[in-house]
Amino acid sequence: MQNPHAINADLHCHSTVSDGMLPPRDVAARAHAGGVAFWALTDHDEVGGQAEACAAAEALGMRYVPGVEISVTWAGQTVHIVGLQIDPACPALVQGLAATRSGRAARAQDIGEALAAVGIEGAYEGALRYVGNPDLISRTHFARWLVDQGRCKTIGDVFGEYLGEGRPGYVGHRWARLSDAIGWIRAAGGIPVMAHPGRYNYTQVQHDALFDEFKQLGGAAVEVVTGSHTPDQYRRYVDVAHHYGLLGSRGSDFHGPGEGRVELGSLPPLPSSVTPVWHDW
Ligand code: AMP
Ligand code: MN
Ligand code: MN
Ligand code: MN
Repeated sequence: MQNPHAINADLHCHSTVSDGMLPPRDVAARAHAGGVAFWALTDHDEVGGQAEACAAAEALGMRYVPGVEISVTWAGQTVHIVGLQIDPACPALVQGLAATRSGRAARAQDIGEALAAVGIEGAYEGALRYVGNPDLISRTHFARWLVDQGRCKTIGDVFGEYLGEGRPGYVGHRWARLSDAIGWIRAAGGIPVMAHPGRYNYTQVQHDALFDEFKQLGGAAVEVVTGSHTPDQYRRYVDVAHHYGLLGSRGSDFHGPGEGRVELGSLPPLPSSVTPVWHDW
């Protein structure tokens, strides 16, 4: 068998079924053009793109890995848990994701009101024009509208100024429980992966408690090489993977052309000291 570290796996990205800019078939084509061999589409809280992604990937000769990225609230902050090799038809998963999505519409209206209170009118209607899936209105859709309105230069600037935690357009929301998200992924035969842990703003004590709980609940892997991590963070999460006995994952978190730092398939390989989550696929 080929050395698994040499396989170009990109196991985290988004389509118009959540907050990405391209439909699943176009993301597949872009992954293929980027040299990806093992590919997962991991839309937020939604598996509606899986059939199209799988068909497109297989037509291109890529190995498809069914995926999802679940929004979780843990110790007052949002954590993302990726599920890989899931059965997208599993009823427990499908129902859990529907429940997780259900608060998004009301939250989006609240975000619109919060932005109106700082002088930005029409944001809810504006964001809706960018939404591909009416069940999945995301802050990213508001951010794209605000950039196109000339309020900010980049999506990152919008989060820094308006939509990030503590900013005037931020509306708190309670997502799934960590135990539920891991339970749904396991019920669907999947592998729970801690997404981009370098992005969370926990204290060291909370960070360690999050990993203890994740592992105890059945968590199996951690994203080491992701578009959200710096090279220092790759090294840090190699150590975390060893410490907690987790496999390592790799994914660009691609959302759209020109958005974010990384193109599909273009990240450095997973460091050789960590076992890839795909080692036995
Ligand atoms: P939501 O699920 O509606 O809270 O939106 C979360 C999404 O916003 C994430 O999946 C990212 O795509 C995007 N996002 C969050 N923070 C940032 C940031 N600082 N810069 C750019 N995009 C961000
Ligand atoms: Mn996103
Ligand atoms: Mn995420
Ligand atoms: Mn993501």
